[in-house]
Amino acid sequence: MENGIIHLLKPQLTPKCSQCGSPLILVSETTELKEGSRFPQTTTKYRCSNEPCQEEKDKQTAKRMKILQDKAVADQKRLEAKQEKKKQNA
Ligand SMILES: [Zn+2]
Repeated sequence: MENGIIHLLKPQLTPKCSQCGSPLILVSETTELKEGSRFPQTTTKYRCSNEPCQEEKDKQTAKRMKILQDKAVADQKRLEAKQEKKKQNA
């Protein structure tokens, strides 16, 4: 038996929240085969069973998403400005 297969069969433990130690609830599990990858990747989403803790996590996630979005917009603007400058120089 290949080592890789043994690795995939490791027992499923109930994951615990890293913040408060409460058990995590499985929200969704998606398995997809990504391009260039030989093995399907499983992405699991959990939420904390401790409501206030999960709310705090949601807030943090929203904040992080906002920062990422702002960065993407800023990058796009910078790229456009660069292209605009190129056009003017041509
Ligand atoms: Zn928690």
